Amino acid sequence: MGAVIETVDRNRGRTAFGGLKRRTGVAGAMTSREFCPRCGNPVPERDEPLPGSPRDRDEALCDACYFEDFDLVDAPERVEVLVCSSCGAVHRGNRWVDVGARDYTDVAVESVSEALGVHVKAEDVAWAVEPEQVDQNTIRMHCYFSGVVRGTPVEEEVVVPVKISRGTCQRCGRIAGGYYAGVVQVRADERTPTADEERRAVEIAEEFVADREEAGDRDAFITEIDEVADGVDVKVSTNQLGQAIANRITRELGGRVNTHPTLVTEDEDGNEVYRVTYAVRLPEFTPGDIIDPSDGEGPVLVRSVRGNLKGIRLVSGERYESSFEEGEAPDARSLGTVEDAAETTVVTVEDEHAVQVLDPETFESKTIPRPDFFDPDAATVPVFKSRAGLHVVPEDALDG
Ligand SMILES: [Zn+2]
Ligand SMILES: [Zn+2]
Repeated sequence: MGAVIETVDRNRGRTAFGGLKRRTGVAGAMTSREFCPRCGNPVPERDEPLPGSPRDRDEALCDACYFEDFDLVDAPERVEVLVCSSCGAVHRGNRWVDVGARDYTDVAVESVSEALGVHVKAEDVAWAVEPEQVDQNTIRMHCYFSGVVRGTPVEEEVVVPVKISRGTCQRCGRIAGGYYAGVVQVRADERTPTADEERRAVEIAEEFVADREEAGDRDAFITEIDEVADGVDVKVSTNQLGQAIANRITRELGGRVNTHPTLVTEDEDGNEVYRVTYAVRLPEFTPGDIIDPSDGEGPVLVRSVRGNLKGIRLVSGERYESSFEEGEAPDARSLGTVEDAAETTVVTVEDEHAVQVLDPETFESKTIPRPDFFDPDAATVPVFKSRAGLHVVPEDALDG
């Protein structure tokens, strides 16, 4: 950096050193004159380094010789910034980082700044970088530095060319290659999941992955969603994702998760690579189902299957809850769903336990149980007909 040396005022440098505090009272220090090991000129005396710390050979040089080889700035010849051509992420260190929708000038400024070094002996360092866009993929970064070395102000300008090169980040490569680490299989006990359950399960997976992405997790993505005959499969990029999604699905829709690891292959280091299946088994019954628990007390409208099965007796309106041991799958048979209910005419309210309605199929008058959710002022009520007989169902069950 010849330019730098020219900017140094050597005389001023000398005077500055002349002003340094001289040590007194140390044997030998006062009498011995030191000379520059390169040019042989006398060198003004300066502070000795602390005992034990290595003395830099350059320290002994006179200012002229010292500045001849002096670089204030250590800059790379060029800087390459690798960006993903699909998602725009930037390769930094050994990982890919999302930088958002900025242009790459900021990224170039940052990369160059990180790559620049300033001489350790420089004090009062000030610096600035100024990008000059040459073309879409080339930026010339003008870097200005100033500082004080040996009491002498020095400055230096370097230009670092920055090349923006395009590649494919690991995430985009994996997505393109169909990579997945786990699969969440959504199935149901003794039936296939309903369209609503499948839709909701997929939504839960997508919402969770979106949250992870939002939080900066680049490893989180859904590889594929497959509708299969008995449910839906969601292939995901990590096992943590698979487990979390499966847990969220059962928390909301009920059921259980069983995990089966499958050895797929060995990686290049000989480690076994597993794919994990998160088998979600939704409960046999869902809210809206009408079941017969076979306990002689008549049909139950299922309200919830989270944890255990909860519902109401259609005969009385009383609450029904399966025991802890039975969980969400009591030994019961399905009679149908509330969607099979039909609106029918109330003929007369007989007493507090019975009401007469028209059978929606035969139009005969029938006396049936009057549950506590029955509205005595209603002209029509929804009724559900099954092999267990004719039962009034609550109006609110029809909306859900
Ligand atoms: Zn010299
Ligand atoms: Zn990418």
